[in-house]
Amino acid sequence: PVAPRRELVESVVKEAYDKFRNEAKGKNADYIPYLAQVDSKLFGIAIVTTDNQVLTLGDVNYSFSIQSISKVFTLALAMEELGPDKTFERIGSEPTGRAFNSVPAVVDMPTHTGNPFVNAGAIATTSLISGKDANEKWDKILNFYNKVAGEKLTLIEEVYKSEAATNTGNKALSMLLAKYDRIYADPFESVDIYTKQCSVGVNASQLARMGATLANNGVNPASGEQVIKREDVPYILATMTMAGLYDSSGSWAWHVGLPAKSGVGGGIVAIAPGKGAIAVFAPPLDEAGNSVKAQEVIDYVAQKLNYNLYSPS
Ligand code: GLU
Repeated sequence: PVAPRRELVESVVKEAYDKFRNEAKGKNADYIPYLAQVDSKLFGIAIVTTDNQVLTLGDVNYSFSIQSISKVFTLALAMEELGPDKTFERIGSEPTGRAFNSVPAVVDMPTHTGNPFVNAGAIATTSLISGKDANEKWDKILNFYNKVAGEKLTLIEEVYKSEAATNTGNKALSMLLAKYDRIYADPFESVDIYTKQCSVGVNASQLARMGATLANNGVNPASGEQVIKREDVPYILATMTMAGLYDSSGSWAWHVGLPAKSGVGGGIVAIAPGKGAIAVFAPPLDEAGNSVKAQEVIDYVAQKLNYNLYSPS
């Protein structure tokens, strides 16, 4: 009911698209070889509202790897299994103020895991998912993502292979977590499942619908199914506010005021609770690892539509 009129949203999204389509700043992630080769001109915007109105512009059918945005949904699944208190106890929820893959953060932080959205905390979160073996755990994670998206998602095999061949840093993080007793299954098995979850393909529309499920208190607006527990949603959104954009989450909260999560594949999804979600895909990233165009578009649209959560008006 609070969603602004469709024509207004359409014109604001079009303005943002035209304003930022030629933005030249940023560079594709290249530490995962596959990502360096993705066409850096790809640019798509999708909005899904809680009443399931869909608005798209640009390259919205291109399937990119979800990367770190997957951490949001594995956290939701961990809470589904363990409840928020035990999840919090095992993973914690403090900003690290460091890069997402920081080793010193693991060593220095009292919790060692930091929070569920830095790699250490995310690998530990994945290790919480129960199952008789790695395949069962992985199937459970993918099926959960499918329910959140309201459609079947698939792993992008080349991304998985490319990342699995180069993820020595994440393996090292998992061993450090083991040293501190902060990983809850076999460390390398957990990294492998985590690498798979990061390699899941989504397009901007699917990602916006996953976000809209959070905006809609855990109910997928298309299927009407309660797929994330209503009471878990505030914990997830709080974590997104605090750590959703790596070590520039603070400046994002300052300027935009919306819970969001980015991934090094070039996607960002931002949530306007009760209203809907916007997902933007454009591969070139800034220094912190966030898509430049996606940040610009979301900032622009959120300001024009007055979505800042902390704004009194
Ligand atoms: N799979 C990537 C990694 O572990 C995810 C990073 C990201 O999107 O932040 O480095």
